Amino acid sequence: MHDVIVVGAGPTGCYAARELAKLGYGVLVLEEHTEVGTPVHCTGVVGVELYRRFDLDRSCIQTRLASARFLSPSGQSFRVASPQPSALVVDRRHFDQSLARQALAHGASFLLGARAERVSTTDQQSVVHATCLGDPLVFSARLVILATGTDECLTHQLDLARKSTPCMLGGQLFVESLSLDEVEIHLSPSLAPGGFAWAVPANGHGARVGLIASREPRTRLLNFADALEARGAIRRNGAKMTCRPVPGGPRTPSYGDRVIVIGDAAGQVKSTTSGGIYYGLLGAEAAVRSAHEALRLGDLGAARLANYEQSWLKHIGREQRTGRTLRRLYANLTDRDMDALFWLTRRTGIPRLLSQLRFDWHTAGLLTVLWRDVLGAVTGAAREHTGITAD
Ligand SMILES: Cc1cc2nc3c(=O)[nH]c(=O)nc-3n(C[C@H](O)[C@H](O)[C@H](O)COP(=O)(O)OP(=O)(O)OC[C@H]3O[C@@H](n4cnc5c(N)ncnc54)[C@H](O)[C@@H]3O)c2cc1C
Repeated sequence: MHDVIVVGAGPTGCYAARELAKLGYGVLVLEEHTEVGTPVHCTGVVGVELYRRFDLDRSCIQTRLASARFLSPSGQSFRVASPQPSALVVDRRHFDQSLARQALAHGASFLLGARAERVSTTDQQSVVHATCLGDPLVFSARLVILATGTDECLTHQLDLARKSTPCMLGGQLFVESLSLDEVEIHLSPSLAPGGFAWAVPANGHGARVGLIASREPRTRLLNFADALEARGAIRRNGAKMTCRPVPGGPRTPSYGDRVIVIGDAAGQVKSTTSGGIYYGLLGAEAAVRSAHEALRLGDLGAARLANYEQSWLKHIGREQRTGRTLRRLYANLTDRDMDALFWLTRRTGIPRLLSQLRFDWHTAGLLTVLWRDVLGAVTGAAREHTGITAD
């Protein structure tokens, strides 16, 4: 029997496997794909804090980002820049594979091409029924960690992660950059309802073009890429699109008897941007702490593992709640509203204020900008328009 079976070799599964193997536990990772890190469905933009907090391979960093241009539906724009890079672009394939290699080096085992079909738990063990290249296999462990991303098959079976915020849909294309010299964030409700579109120059002549929306991401992303191509910013070269759901916020419960859920599967993402690498690793870190304590005490019941959920919600729950509120406000805006907001933003010092926000913890700052500065600008413009003077 293994100490821990991790299902899913994305960044959170590989990180949890690495840390538990380091602590001396016998860890088996099951991954349905035959190669870790593929297919890539992620742009790989992370805040610099990720590398400060976690021991990660720096050779995965492709680009350092110190600025971004925000564009409105009618093409108005403003630039947010900071003196030092606040974000990085990592090569996701390399990132996942590097974590997997480190987990292997610490003694974890990986079985690739193995899809976990069913998980059941008893007082004594967790049992995982898998299929590996067509063959049925059964494994047992003291604890199972589900790091299955947005594949809800196993969490549904176990009645976990059932309380959740609706997912958005994300799509991405790897393209050739012709004249993209800076990250572009397109905030256009008709292009990406409830979400946004981006173009991120990455390594050399490469760029990632993507979009998150509440519906029809494929057609919308193709339209967006067509517009960038028509502008001469990128060349598609027949790039293949990857599309998948992105969680909108926490999914609970994220633990049960002998089971822990981490990463996207537990909705550990930023509710504003749906970025999940950093919050997923924070969740995985909390999971490793709880698992270590429970394995040491030999008590892997749900009551003992409850501290895992308390811990990650305490860390990122508030940011997620505020992010969801902002996202709901944002989802009600029309293209005209967005253009008006851009007009206001460009007339004020808001871009400078935005550049001071922390990449991974930005909601409180955004709320302040919204209430104090946008509202101030609106009332100022109204006074100018009506001739009403301030007291
Ligand atoms: C278009 C797009 C762009 C994104 N860009 C960013 C970004 O720039 N920055 C950022 O921070 N986040 C980004 N994200 C989100 C980020 O990709 C996820 O938050 C992150 O991958 C979550 O990691 P994870 O380990 O939880 O899950 P995943 O990376 O999804 O890994 C889950 C793994 O589990 C495997 N699996 C699932 N079910 C089973 C099973 N039953 N048996 C065996 N294996 C199984 C899957 O094959 C997969 O390998 C983006 C997402 C999308 C869709």
